Amino acid sequence: MMEVQWILLVHGAITLLVVVSFLCGNWPIFENTFVGKIHRFIVFGAYDYFLRSVACICGSKARDGVLAVEYYCCDRPNPILQIFYVSVVGMMYYLIVTSSFRYIPSYYVGEYHRIASMFGVGIGLVLFLLTSFSDPGTVKAENVWQYVSAYPYDNIIYSEKVCSTCKIPKPARSKHCSICNRCVARFDHHCGWMNKCIGEKNTRYFMAFLFWHFFLCVYGVVILGLILAGQLKERRIIYILTAIYGIKDSFSSLSPHVVQWLLSSHNTQILLIVFLAIVSLLLVCFFGYHAHLCLTNTTTNESFKWQDYISWKTKQNKARASAAELKNNNTSHVKIESVVKNNIYDKGVVRNFTEIIIPLSERPSFSKEKSI
Ligand SMILES: [Zn+2]
Ligand SMILES: [Zn+2]
Repeated sequence: MMEVQWILLVHGAITLLVVVSFLCGNWPIFENTFVGKIHRFIVFGAYDYFLRSVACICGSKARDGVLAVEYYCCDRPNPILQIFYVSVVGMMYYLIVTSSFRYIPSYYVGEYHRIASMFGVGIGLVLFLLTSFSDPGTVKAENVWQYVSAYPYDNIIYSEKVCSTCKIPKPARSKHCSICNRCVARFDHHCGWMNKCIGEKNTRYFMAFLFWHFFLCVYGVVILGLILAGQLKERRIIYILTAIYGIKDSFSSLSPHVVQWLLSSHNTQILLIVFLAIVSLLLVCFFGYHAHLCLTNTTTNESFKWQDYISWKTKQNKARASAAELKNNNTSHVKIESVVKNNIYDKGVVRNFTEIIIPLSERPSFSKEKSI
């Protein structure tokens, strides 16, 4: 029995490592780490090997077929991940209903959680639909000048440009999404799960979606945990273990037996708890990262632009400093100027937050902006 637990533990740890590496391995904190290496292998290396072996075994036509599928899945709008999301949520809720609703109500869980969980999942789906199907803030010929006025160019990461595809000026903070084939104001990123860009008008729904799903997962973990605790209590497991089997009444001697009982009689709930806990952990990291961006009024797209700008500027300053040192015949050490991120769109936490809740284009002042 202990062996099975070890296999489960190792399996869980490897799954977590692979999932975290795949989803978050490109984050700056994982640079030059094992997690970053696994990410690069999964994202680039493994696919490249796969393509080469397909070409080798089945010929170049088969490889072109794989590339065409990849083009459809990754570079064109498609509902694959949307369908995947809805099926995972549906499957999880179905599993919870069939495996655990018979324990509601129980010692620690009130009857109302049957209805509350349904509303919880329903609200999650509504937020998903709102993010997926509402306008992210498309820049068109009719509103482009209003957007240009609302978002001034900072002449650091944004300067006056024209979108070569839409043939209209590119307001600062906007980007042309090649998948959606449109310019999106305050472009954050193209979200495959939503099959939509996250931009000026739907960042609020996206953030609410992330937070709500984190909350739902934690809610699931807590209720399932309370159901198991209730089962321990109602079936008097601790009493049976101590009084009948004569196990010492202490946490360290009882816990392995309790875990063993839970694994053998409630393995579905345990698996659900582990899955929901992992997802909630990923969601809270993702939500925290985006909340930090929102409160500093930076988009994901801009965070990359700032990274590029700062590393380019630092290199330039270093070169300038070493040139100055050479000029002084290395007699004095020239200090390298540090580069600061001067984000003109950051107006303080409160105003940044309200800009997410009420986007600039939905304010009365926006329609009054000049339209040429
Ligand atoms: Zn465009
Ligand atoms: Zn897009």
